[in-house]
Amino acid sequence: MAGLQTPLTRLLPADVARKLAAHRDLRTAGDLLWFLPRRYLDLRTEVAELVPGSYAVFVGTVLSATARPMRQRRGRLLSVTVRSGEHEIDVAFFSAHGHERKLLPGASGLFAGTVGAYGGRLQLTHPAYQMLGADDPDDAQGLIPGVADQRYMPVYREVKNLPSWKIGRAVAMVLDALDPLVDPVPADILQRRGLPGLGEAFARVHAPVELRGHGRNLWPPELARLRYDEALMMQVLLARRRLAHRSSPARPRRPRPGGLLEAFDARLPFELTAGQRAVGEELSEDLARDWPMHRLLQGDVGSGKTVVALRAMLAVVDAGGQAAMLAPTEVLAAQHHRSITTMMGDLAEGGLLGGADQGTRVALLTGSQTTAQRRRALLQAASGEAGIVVGTHALIQEGVGFFDLGLAVVDEQHRFGVAQRDALRGKAQDSSAADPHVLVMTATPIPRTVAMTVFGDMDVSVLTELPAGRSPITTHVVDKPAWLARTWARVAEEVAAGHQAYVVCPRIDDDAADSQPHPADEALESPEPPDDTHEALPAARSVMELQGLLATEPSLAGLAVDILHGRLPAEAKESVMAAFTAGDIDVLISTTVIEVGVDVPNATVMVVMDAERFGVSQLHQLRGRIGRGTAPGLCLLVTRAQGPALERLHQVAATTDGFEVARIDLEQRREGDVLGARQSGRSSLRLLRLTGPEERDPYGLTRADLDRLIQEAREDAAEVVGDDPDLHRHPELAAAIGALLDDEQAAYLERG
Ligand code: ADP
Ligand code: MG
Repeated sequence: MAGLQTPLTRLLPADVARKLAAHRDLRTAGDLLWFLPRRYLDLRTEVAELVPGSYAVFVGTVLSATARPMRQRRGRLLSVTVRSGEHEIDVAFFSAHGHERKLLPGASGLFAGTVGAYGGRLQLTHPAYQMLGADDPDDAQGLIPGVADQRYMPVYREVKNLPSWKIGRAVAMVLDALDPLVDPVPADILQRRGLPGLGEAFARVHAPVELRGHGRNLWPPELARLRYDEALMMQVLLARRRLAHRSSPARPRRPRPGGLLEAFDARLPFELTAGQRAVGEELSEDLARDWPMHRLLQGDVGSGKTVVALRAMLAVVDAGGQAAMLAPTEVLAAQHHRSITTMMGDLAEGGLLGGADQGTRVALLTGSQTTAQRRRALLQAASGEAGIVVGTHALIQEGVGFFDLGLAVVDEQHRFGVAQRDALRGKAQDSSAADPHVLVMTATPIPRTVAMTVFGDMDVSVLTELPAGRSPITTHVVDKPAWLARTWARVAEEVAAGHQAYVVCPRIDDDAADSQPHPADEALESPEPPDDTHEALPAARSVMELQGLLATEPSLAGLAVDILHGRLPAEAKESVMAAFTAGDIDVLISTTVIEVGVDVPNATVMVVMDAERFGVSQLHQLRGRIGRGTAPGLCLLVTRAQGPALERLHQVAATTDGFEVARIDLEQRREGDVLGARQSGRSSLRLLRLTGPEERDPYGLTRADLDRLIQEAREDAAEVVGDDPDLHRHPELAAAIGALLDDEQAAYLERG
């Protein structure tokens, strides 16, 4: 019996198996079959693409071959000239023996080797080669057995001393030796989707009879089957996770009539938007169920996610439970605490004299609190006295317990991994057998394909509109020194009109210590600026330098300027933010600690120094801090960059749409980074590249194709899991998914 798990050492000649294991870590039949060709040579038309120093595989015709004795050594040197397309290549063999008989003028063959250049001519020394159509006694079977008039030859990633055609032959030997593969995908699904069986797909992908596609992007149609497998495995996995969520117990949480939520709604100073109301409905339906909510709330910066989350938290408190909100930074946690307390007014003074009857308490828990503060917050959480607990990572540490955690809210999910979400969820189990409901929020627009995969086990709500009365933000790029004075003058004008300003710098100071990136100041890790910068703009890019510079700036004389950064003690941060919120500070110079969530509606202008050092999405988050009130916002991106970096800033300036920003961002980096490598790093996926900015993936598939494929797989997965939840009747599918999970787990552990 030979199957996908059978070691290659049992199926292939020892030296071939050894090379595959040593160079590409291919050890089982399955490993080799999934070692997919990178492209295919058309043996009738393929010409060389020769770049000196690179490994090339091509078809060529022998023009001439001459053997002559060598002076210093015994034996004869064979010099061959090969033509391939436009190229003429010199091929040298230091022993003519065995080669001159095959490399006859006029004969065609495949050549593989590392291209050299000598005296302006391309050279190959001792390449591997395989003559075509020759009656070669060593090679009676032709290139790949069973394919008599083979036209396409697979080209694989380089395996030392094993040219592609030998790998192709090894694949054919393995396929021959295997028992018919048991297909993990149910036959009726294959039929419905018009896909071949797994064995046939492997055979044709390694030895195609037909290629389809555009330009050089040609693939055998059977590749679709392998791609479908990955989509289906992933979707079955997610369908089972959804099912598991549904079958774990949660306590339904329904707001009490005449309770906290009603009282809160009655004192809201604004109307909820239609979107906020609709999402609110979805959340209260979810919360009323006896299985845990698992919902992702996506909304651009400023769309008003916090109040939506707060209303859900209040519903849970109404029902006698507690809610926790996890924020990625101390500044944000403190601000959430402050704004929630403010919005709730006397409703947040439960148990206090003068507090509302149905009120509760809102506790704050962060890592840098004093022991006394911390002890009090812990006590309030554990006793249930605090209905709402806001905090940073400190929330999910050991020793934090809740009386009855009913809802976990994770703000700015893109900053967290799945592990933290799960850790917070685990906090509920300390106190009860039920899982808490989970709401995660993000301002990062998530492409549909990713929403169906990485977040595929969650329901998704989207806030599409900004609250009414929002003023537009205008963004300008400041790349001329003369404009910098004008920039400070604009800041002064805004302050004179009663508003406030942010000045954002990529770093704190110029100390050596500064090169140690502080977790709250991620931009410190930004690369050095390119050399082609304007000399004329001052290089004032740290908070400290800028504080000095602005102190002597005539137009800002007499204004209250203060600084905020991650290295300040928590209390200092807290008091600076409180003073800025209260309007006591006119100009706040800060690092990206204010990037997410900070909400001071009176701030109307933001100057970003050395803007090219920030990521595109980061700039969008940053400018989301202004234009939150009724006055229009102005964002000035100061830069010394030129070329593509400058162009990118102009692109950001030209749009206010988060999705467009995400697209620009994607042009630069992969989605995996946008989402945080933790969540999207699925190294186990070989064919489904969800991540490229390109219109087509490496296999020529468009985004729309991918979307459709994943949608189909999702439907099929729902069907399979629907009538066989434990996959008892689909053991092959269960095994394949098990392997995928192992890979995923391994990849996760490697990333630490
Ligand atoms: P984000 O989605 O970026 O987290 P926030 O929740 O911080 O946005 O909301 C941004 C600002 O908009 C806050 O000042 C909030 O009080 C305000 N806001 C939220 N909803 C509305 C609304 N329906 N009408 C007016 N202002 C609103
Ligand atoms: Mg927010």
